[in-house]
Amino acid sequence: DYIQIEPFLVQSVKRMETLHPEFNFVMTLSQRDFMVKINPLHLEQIMLILIENAVKYSGNDKHVHIDSRMNNGKMTISVQDHGIGIPSEELQYVFDRFYRVDKARNREIGGTGLGLSIARNLVQHYQGEINMTSIEDEGTRVTLTFPAIVQD
Ligand code: ATP
Repeated sequence: DYIQIEPFLVQSVKRMETLHPEFNFVMTLSQRDFMVKINPLHLEQIMLILIENAVKYSGNDKHVHIDSRMNNGKMTISVQDHGIGIPSEELQYVFDRFYRVDKARNREIGGTGLGLSIARNLVQHYQGEINMTSIEDEGTRVTLTFPAIVQD
């Protein structure tokens, strides 16, 4: 069944705000009624993985931006941080199972390296796409794209 994306995002970001009160989650919503055919538990899981990563790898900057919009007939949701970023030569591997960037850097920050591969599997199950752009020491943006309809 279709779910309304923007009210859903507001709810899941509210939950992240209670978990991480020291963070500032900034949402930019298009205020349009996007509908995507996805199991809400799956979308919740995807958002949780992306936002938890943004928080975990945030460095000193405690802002996370969540943005939703319509692009070329598809809806995109992006999660952006201003954290430690990922070296360009490693970016291609981060969706691989168990891959973690630079073991030494990550030693203090726990994790299995499974989150992004789970997110990608879930996204692809719904004919969506997941992409990441990142600049080391500047930050990371993950963009989700799903087939969507807009109700006006
Ligand atoms: P877990 O899934 O248990 O939370 P994880 O965070 O290590 O572990 P993934 O979510 O798959 O696993 O991420 C893989 C690697 O990609 C991470 O170890 C980290 O090095 C890098 N990474 C992911 N998201 C970010 C981000 N927002 N900023 C910087 N590096 C990131």
